[in-house]
Amino acid sequence: MLRPRFLRKLYASYLVLLILTTAIAGALVARHTSQAIHQTVRHTLQTQALLLRGLALQVFDASDPQSLSPRLRSQGAAIGTRITLIRPDGKVVADSEEDPSRLQNHAKRPEIVAARQHHAIGTDIRMSPGLGTSTMYLAQPVQWQGEFLGYIRIAMPLTMLRDRMAYVWRTVLIAGSSAAVVGLLVSLLLARRVAHPLQRMTDMAIQLAGQYAPQPAFMRAKDEIENLTNAFDRMAYNLRDRMETIIQDRSQLLTVLGGMVEGVIAVDEHECVTHMNYAAGTMLRIDPDMSIGKHVWEVTRVRAVIETLGSTINAPESISCEVSITQPQELTLQLNASPLWDSRGELVGAVVVLHDVTDIRRLENIRRDFVANVSHELKTPITTIKGFVETLRDGAIDDREHAYRFLDIIANNGDRLHAIIEDLLSLSRLEQAEQTADLVRQETLLQHVIEKAVQSCEAKAVSRQVTITTVCDPEHRFSLNASLIEQAIVNLLDNAINYSKAGSTIHIAASRHAGEVTVCVQDEGIGIPQEHLPRLFERFYRVDKARSRERGGTGLGLAIVKHIAQVHGGQVSVTSTLGEGSTFTLRLPVV
Ligand code: ADP
Repeated sequence: MLRPRFLRKLYASYLVLLILTTAIAGALVARHTSQAIHQTVRHTLQTQALLLRGLALQVFDASDPQSLSPRLRSQGAAIGTRITLIRPDGKVVADSEEDPSRLQNHAKRPEIVAARQHHAIGTDIRMSPGLGTSTMYLAQPVQWQGEFLGYIRIAMPLTMLRDRMAYVWRTVLIAGSSAAVVGLLVSLLLARRVAHPLQRMTDMAIQLAGQYAPQPAFMRAKDEIENLTNAFDRMAYNLRDRMETIIQDRSQLLTVLGGMVEGVIAVDEHECVTHMNYAAGTMLRIDPDMSIGKHVWEVTRVRAVIETLGSTINAPESISCEVSITQPQELTLQLNASPLWDSRGELVGAVVVLHDVTDIRRLENIRRDFVANVSHELKTPITTIKGFVETLRDGAIDDREHAYRFLDIIANNGDRLHAIIEDLLSLSRLEQAEQTADLVRQETLLQHVIEKAVQSCEAKAVSRQVTITTVCDPEHRFSLNASLIEQAIVNLLDNAINYSKAGSTIHIAASRHAGEVTVCVQDEGIGIPQEHLPRLFERFYRVDKARSRERGGTGLGLAIVKHIAQVHGGQVSVTSTLGEGSTFTLRLPVV
């Protein structure tokens, strides 16, 4: 459809341009033509003046110049000019068209003045009162043998110039009008060609700009171009607005993904990684930034991840599974994969969320083992007690000798139950103190604590023929919970006595360096095989179950030591050589 406003503007500007160009071109051509004609007329008049010189001499020399008037008239008519002969004082002697006596003095005529001043040809162009047209006048001084006789003046009307100029302007106007008509046609065609795509672009831009209200800064449209400009402005404004929203949403999403503890890996439909957060990188030991754009199997060797993503894309539905991996590290991962769809409902990839459940599963195992262990540990003495009580009831109570032995066994198992429950309660209290981080500390001389622990175990050491030596600076004073540290040393010492041979020595050494106090309990006992060392501090973990029970152990002693160290912010470690002895080291930070 033709857009009139746009066409009007286009044509108006074209017309203004055309008028200006025509006017300038016409003026230039007219000026050039006028100059050329002036020059030609001047040259003609000059030639004629030369040719008429002889006749002029005769007239100036004649006693009756009037007698030569017919010759002068016929000459003037022949060449189409007016010839006037003028004395140096300006008096007209003869004229080809008028009676000289009726003519005024010509001394002040501009061409005569110019000729007199320059002693050469003088010219002037003015309106001739007689002819009523613009006329060129040329005055030529006439001399004979050094005597100045007067002037030949020749006048020629510039009608040729007028005709030529009229012709020039006519031509220019015809050319201008033709150009205007052609221009109008071209504009019409151009408008037809431009208006349609312009309208389509405007409609598209308005559509892209959406339903947003126009901003106050946008001007009111006067034609299709402004309409389009406005639509583009609105579109640009809204696009910028939407881009900002998208960028903001994206950065929020990336921040959320980056801060997640769960690993997230997104792939496109070709299984190439499009996003991976740092948690996923840490779990799979890969650099997330280096993974973008690579195929998932180039990025990780964890088959479960590759297969889960592949299956989600091939059969687009959510998948959940749990896997234990050993490479690149030992982990139990829960994988939840979902397909990714675009706004048109087409599959564009898949995302898998990796949940590290290693600790949860480990704690679950520990809890399960613990319940089983506690049940087992409690069951054994209870079964024994129950068995002997029934035996006594069934008549053994009357057999005094056996009855006392059975009662001793019942009492021992009661003590054992008590010891286990005491240890369990200690552990529970320590765990609570660890969680709430509330530990009662007091400035204490470490030597006193060690001495008290040694005293508690002295009787047992003597009965087992084991010697205990201590090395500790009597001045060492620390802020700690004395009864807990004493209990820890007693537990270590009790074990050392239990697993030492008669005649051996146990060394206790306390020292302080680098902001840490160290208490070592070293024995020369049976030692512990290396494979047991990592699990030695677990609850109910024993190297030799029968021997431990025989020695009255609960299997909780070292677990209690570990928790006492932890509640003080420290730790316990062990080194051992089978058959040579073990060294337990308690390290506590000085606070
Ligand atoms: P228990 O009550 O059985 O001694 P602990 O937790 O104190 O329980 O010790 C766990 C296990 O570690 C013991 O059963 C024993 O096998 C081993 N053990 C502990 N201390 C020593 C040691 N000094 N020498 C050899 N083995 C030890």
